[in-house]
Amino acid sequence: MAQQIPYKIYLSEDEMPKAWYNVRADMKNKPAPLLNPGTLEPMQFDDLRPVFCDELIRQELDNDTAYFEIPEEIRAFYRMYRPSPLVRAYCLEEKLQTPAKIYYKFEGNNTSGSHKLNSAIAQAYYAKQQGLKGLTTETGAGQWGTALSMACAYLGLDLKVFMVKVSYEQKPFRREVMRTYGANVTPSPSNTTNVGRKILEEFPGTTGSLGCAISEAVETAVSTPGYRYVLGSVLNQVLLHQSVIGLEAKAALDKYGIKPDVIIGCAGGGSNLGGLIAPFMGEKLRGEADYEIIAVEPASCPSFTRGRYAYDFCDTGMVCPLAKMYTLGSSFIPSANHAGGLRYHGMSSILSQLYHDGYMTARAVEQTSVFEAAELFARTEGTLPAPESSHAIRAAIDEALKCKQTGEEKTILFGLTGTGYFDLKAYEQYNDGTMTDVIPTDEDLEKGFAGLPKVDK
Ligand SMILES: *Cc1c(COP(=O)(O)O)cnc(C)c1O
Repeated sequence: MAQQIPYKIYLSEDEMPKAWYNVRADMKNKPAPLLNPGTLEPMQFDDLRPVFCDELIRQELDNDTAYFEIPEEIRAFYRMYRPSPLVRAYCLEEKLQTPAKIYYKFEGNNTSGSHKLNSAIAQAYYAKQQGLKGLTTETGAGQWGTALSMACAYLGLDLKVFMVKVSYEQKPFRREVMRTYGANVTPSPSNTTNVGRKILEEFPGTTGSLGCAISEAVETAVSTPGYRYVLGSVLNQVLLHQSVIGLEAKAALDKYGIKPDVIIGCAGGGSNLGGLIAPFMGEKLRGEADYEIIAVEPASCPSFTRGRYAYDFCDTGMVCPLAKMYTLGSSFIPSANHAGGLRYHGMSSILSQLYHDGYMTARAVEQTSVFEAAELFARTEGTLPAPESSHAIRAAIDEALKCKQTGEEKTILFGLTGTGYFDLKAYEQYNDGTMTDVIPTDEDLEKGFAGLPKVDK
């Protein structure tokens, strides 16, 4: 008789991964390199040193080393909230009356409420190792800023967070969590940087954007001795650290001999998805196994499904290197009524290359249907999901309903990246019936594409 699969498959602390997996090592077509925006030449180690910590640059540029050992100090921090559970969604399956088997990897079980802590502690650790005094970063709604605040507090590093002004004003709770952990939080754009002052002059009254906050954080890092800049998604190093999600998920599934057919994750900058799929994608790239991999993004910020694969600016102030990615253009800002997160204009270069080469697919979903899925999930599985995560829930439910039609008993794995306690304004809109779906027109998107740099690579 088949072994009964428990509701939660836990790994022991000893079974936690001892190394991160770098999927680039198994990619035939490597992700395109970052380019210097002035010379359009690939960024080298020395070019990146004023901005990033040395060890993180090594990780960023290394397309060949398959495994990076996780330092013991980082493993010690991970042990406070990892291994994270892999949950069999029996209750959701029952509710849907589907023959599909649904599993989710839950990353919301820490104060920051999301997977972002996995990379925050790694990045802060290497900064500390290098003897730096502090870090700068940007944050939108505050998940990344919160995670990094926790990591910096733990290691005794200073932290300056540039928080998108509209969030700073309208979402005070995460701001206060960050301050509780000792971070200095500035609404962006601010008059503390040249780029902030310039943007304020050009667009008085602007409520800010992620791209603008990135520019301010980078400028502050390069102009403050002993500081470096860190980013919570998109970069190769972040996907590397997030591979801990997929490695744990795979180890848990392997214990019971389970092989997923479909793997689903939400995609903002691509870090949780890149991390969840990493070891599975490795097998796929090496021809050892096949999986259907689906990225889910908001229809109001559709980088994969409607974006261009091109070199683009990572920020609004154009101070960062250029990255080749599926992008909507660095000036693209999703409609103000978009409540579901995942609002970055571009996508990880690694995932962009894998998508371009046909190793994964993508779909865009509308936010009201995302919140419907969130509500169903909360009521059946108990956990109040983050709106971002609920994009993956939407697609997982859709796949499970397809199985109901066809009778296929597919095994579905998705990433539940976080909890939604700080997103209750969005839930309020949904519950009040005032949430709408605004999808950019082709003309809207053309405006963003028009700002793409002319790079022939
Ligand atoms: C930041 C965030 C995301 C999206 O970021 P990725 O880099 O695409 O993973 C998804 N879910 C939650 C809960 C987040 O906080």
